[in-house]
Amino acid sequence: MSKVYLLLTLMILVSCASRGAKTIIAHRGASGYLPEHTLEAAAMAYSFGVDFIEPDLVVTKDNHLVVLHDVHIDSTTNVASLFPEKKRKDGRFYAVDFTLFELKQLRVNERTNLKTQQSVFSKRFPQDKSSFRIPSFQEFIELIQGLNQSMGKDIGIYPEMKSPEFHAKEGKDIAKLTFKILEKYGYNSEKANIYVQCFYPPTLKRLKNEFKAKFPLIQLIAEQSWNESSANYQQMQTKAGIKEIASYADGIGPYVQQLIKNEEMVKWAHAYGLKVHAYTHRSDALPEGMKTDKEFFQYFFGKLNIDGIFSDFSDRALPYAN
Ligand code: CA
Repeated sequence: MSKVYLLLTLMILVSCASRGAKTIIAHRGASGYLPEHTLEAAAMAYSFGVDFIEPDLVVTKDNHLVVLHDVHIDSTTNVASLFPEKKRKDGRFYAVDFTLFELKQLRVNERTNLKTQQSVFSKRFPQDKSSFRIPSFQEFIELIQGLNQSMGKDIGIYPEMKSPEFHAKEGKDIAKLTFKILEKYGYNSEKANIYVQCFYPPTLKRLKNEFKAKFPLIQLIAEQSWNESSANYQQMQTKAGIKEIASYADGIGPYVQQLIKNEEMVKWAHAYGLKVHAYTHRSDALPEGMKTDKEFFQYFFGKLNIDGIFSDFSDRALPYAN
């Protein structure tokens, strides 16, 4: 009998462990409440008690990494009024044409739609109020590590290397620059609280094989129509594609709509030992047919059993994490 009890106890322990707590990643900081990718948005997300805070990374003219979502800077800053002469022929402004010193002069605002000049999310932080700046990656890390010290916590970072192919064309090696900073700040360790993400498979493979990165890697999966990179994202959403990802990464970052269309992806990923961290939970832009955060998390955490979520409103995601 005691063997049966032992077996039952073990089964219960294993099932608890496999269910586990969900990972909450503050998407671009507390971007539902403050302009994305500012130190203020990162500090606010930190105070929520999230697991990870996400900085997206792009490279400046003088080879600094800065925290920005796009290689363009015209949707979130006042660059057009400050540096009109730096506009490229395609009508856009690129971070890579600016030094860190120049980027620091820009005001960061809530994301605008360039065609309508209106905020993308109308109820979020108002335009042209208060004062926000573009942080360097080092400033971002020093904020999180500083708070970890002063608050006695270990909140992680979840950096994304943006557009490696674009950067290569501009003569910038974003993987090398990112790895160098991560190593300097102690993140190239199995014990460090970090995931590193990218849409472009060759960059993740380089981190693993060329740089011998010890931190876990997440393959983001885009929609082909976004022209995110030259990778085949349709293939990544098949069972064979997910098996291939498992040869160089530790998890996938699918778009929530991809999981709604193909719920089996989560099972395939788990079968190959991959984590599933989906993007994005937005309380003010829930997927069609979902009216509340509760419905969203009952579906993604409950029914689909994904492992984590990128959220603009991470404080509203946290109650569903356990
Ligand atoms: Ca991102």
